[in-house]
Amino acid sequence: MADRAASKSEHESSKPVDMHVHVVGNGAGGTGCWLKVGGWHRPLAAMMMRQIGLPSSAMTGDLDRLYAERLLELVKTSSLGAAVILAHERVYDSSGNIMEGVGSFYVPNTYVLKLARENREFLPAVSIHPARPDALEELERCLTGGAVMMKCLPNCHNIDCNDRGYTKFWERMAESGLPLLAHTGGEHTVPVVRREFADPRILELPLECGVKVIAAHCATKSGLFDPEYFHVFSDMVRRYPNLYGDTSAFNVPIRGRHVRECLQEPLLSRMLHGSDYPVPVHGHFAWLKGYVDWKTFRQWEKHPNILERDYQLKRAMGFPHESTTRIWQLLRKAPEQSLQ
Ligand SMILES: [Zn+2]
Repeated sequence: MADRAASKSEHESSKPVDMHVHVVGNGAGGTGCWLKVGGWHRPLAAMMMRQIGLPSSAMTGDLDRLYAERLLELVKTSSLGAAVILAHERVYDSSGNIMEGVGSFYVPNTYVLKLARENREFLPAVSIHPARPDALEELERCLTGGAVMMKCLPNCHNIDCNDRGYTKFWERMAESGLPLLAHTGGEHTVPVVRREFADPRILELPLECGVKVIAAHCATKSGLFDPEYFHVFSDMVRRYPNLYGDTSAFNVPIRGRHVRECLQEPLLSRMLHGSDYPVPVHGHFAWLKGYVDWKTFRQWEKHPNILERDYQLKRAMGFPHESTTRIWQLLRKAPEQSLQ
């Protein structure tokens, strides 16, 4: 069993991975997912559907199956070997009670674990609020189920990661080798509960507990008026050898403002390739900023596979092959995954 696990990771570690891919569903087919899209998020959701090649009618139809099938097809027809697919937790208060009516979508851990068992191109990232009364039990269930990463959005999920009460939870993650992908910087597609938790300093306790932490978006701002935390992230990379950053959503305007700094050491050796699928991917900003030339922009902007478009634009910006395979060194080696 151990040998098979080792040989699989050795074999696959050369393949590029998109380590930041969202799963979405409306619960069709009994997946347990839910989705609330209201107000100005409706046209945004319709646009995302079009981007990934699904009709907007899928939103009210068999979305869960259509979305997963489309994602699988995109991975298989791209340069990628795999995608880390993300569960999405409900919002809890610090006493561990669900905050009803606050979140905009939910993707249960059982669903991403199942998708990953059924498709070797999918690697499962679970999502657990550490204030949940059963947080440690859920963590064990997910480890047994083959989880390779944990994802949360401290500002949207209302998680003060520095709360000492969560120490045991972070220690268990560190001990089991489960890395943490945490949203940092502003956020405009999911409702924000605690704006100040966008600051990457919120991740100091898990880092001190030895968890490998990935700051999604390198703490860049999303909206024009968001506070800028990139410099905070950049300083923290120098202090914490176990802190990484991902390039997710760098192909939307504003987020990609710090690409040049990300391509310099010591940041470059901590960069991980992620798209933030189904967030739209456009090369206009990269071209305007001079990260890619006109010909490259035109070539990939037209590409119908948005995972491939994102991958090729990032490579053209100068992110090396290692930034797309480094994640293999961070992901927990789950024996269950290797036995498919
Ligand atoms: Zn994301």
